[in-house]
Amino acid sequence: MRFYSTRDRHTAYTFTQAVQLGLAPDGGLFLPETIPGLPDGFVQALPNLSFVEIATVMATPFLKTEFTEAEIVEMVEAAFPFSAPVVPLNNQYSVLELFHGPTLAFKDFGARFMAQVLQRVVERLSRPLTILVATSGDTGSAVAHGFWKKQGIRVVLLYPDGMVSGIQEQQLTTLGENIIALKVQGTFDDCQRLVKTAFLDETLRQQLRLTSANSINIARLLPQSFYYAAAIGQLGGLEQPVIFSVPSGNLGNLTGGILAAKMGLPVHRFLAALNRNDVFREFLQEGYFKPRKVIPTISNAMDVGNPSNLERIRALFNDDITAIRQTIEAYHFDDDATRHAIAHAYETHHYVFDPHGAVGYLAARTYAQTRKDVHVVVLATAHPAKFNSVIQQVLGKEAPTPERLARWLTRQGQPYPISAHFEVFKAFLLELPSV
Ligand SMILES: *Cc1c(COP(=O)(O)O)cnc(C)c1O
Repeated sequence: MRFYSTRDRHTAYTFTQAVQLGLAPDGGLFLPETIPGLPDGFVQALPNLSFVEIATVMATPFLKTEFTEAEIVEMVEAAFPFSAPVVPLNNQYSVLELFHGPTLAFKDFGARFMAQVLQRVVERLSRPLTILVATSGDTGSAVAHGFWKKQGIRVVLLYPDGMVSGIQEQQLTTLGENIIALKVQGTFDDCQRLVKTAFLDETLRQQLRLTSANSINIARLLPQSFYYAAAIGQLGGLEQPVIFSVPSGNLGNLTGGILAAKMGLPVHRFLAALNRNDVFREFLQEGYFKPRKVIPTISNAMDVGNPSNLERIRALFNDDITAIRQTIEAYHFDDDATRHAIAHAYETHHYVFDPHGAVGYLAARTYAQTRKDVHVVVLATAHPAKFNSVIQQVLGKEAPTPERLARWLTRQGQPYPISAHFEVFKAFLLELPSV
């Protein structure tokens, strides 16, 4: 399988090249040259397959020219020692819990799989890498954990000052070793711009062998298709059409779902559940895209004004807006509605959503209100305990903090404050000691 840029269908790259480049040299995002179909009988067999088995089958067509079958199984097993359980709320709604990894958010799926791939690339080439990650919170900690202490790999994280939660900042800044956390005086979009500019900078590219681990990386995108299949499997032979409600920001999670559907997974529709940063809804409505300034919200990992994966979604649909509208519907909600939804889900179903999942729950209810014969799966992208200040405010009590999170709260972080000017960032990178 070869990969091409969304901006140039004629230059082919191998998977490992695409993973190391992150962004294509022309500034586009990588996509596979063809979308492989799921094997015959796979969908029917899903209820009997483990997550690792599902992931292996779905990863193989993309990786098999560069990795052996044994390597693929090894990578998948090492990346996913945790599950993605589906919790039913009633016969109309379920929750797909994606927060059972070490950093309690769905980004563990992509980041840990990518770490497995890159570790093998570094071993083969015996050349060190520097990974740049712009993060609105969860990406950075998932990547940092995935790559922590991995030989020959250095991770530089950029996060917006004052726009990640206390726990998120702890998770980003307390690892140390090969993980460097930069607190950027700017927004998440500034962080993304710094990373994108760094990749287009010849000096940096040559001296540091930069790799991106953002959701733009193809190695993060692929595993975000696996759990959609695992969810369908857990729903068993459900008769109703299945809808996925995806709390969205940079649209990577949603793009993973679309990839799974294009491979042949039976999905009736996707809901892009947005907070007030609803540029994607506007795009679907107007038919053209206009980036916007970020508005801070309580679902902060979705505070994105220029979602990079939109370019991939458009490419996957040959930029046919009608086809995109037939597959994806977008809904947006403000913080008040989100808080009410957390209370509503608790009162009605005894289920505690984090603010991101709550936006997904709102989209699900809005969609299903007028359509009784559907089943909506809400993706719970983070554990509620990561956002306990909101949960406390709404429910009058906190969500119990899992042990794997509690451990971080006792450590002392080491952030490096830095301005959002590219030249400052570049100078910092060039002065880093070699790995
Ligand atoms: C990153 C993140 C999102 C948004 O996912 P995208 O792939 O950027 O659309 C939603 N919820 C949580 C908790 C996240 O960390």
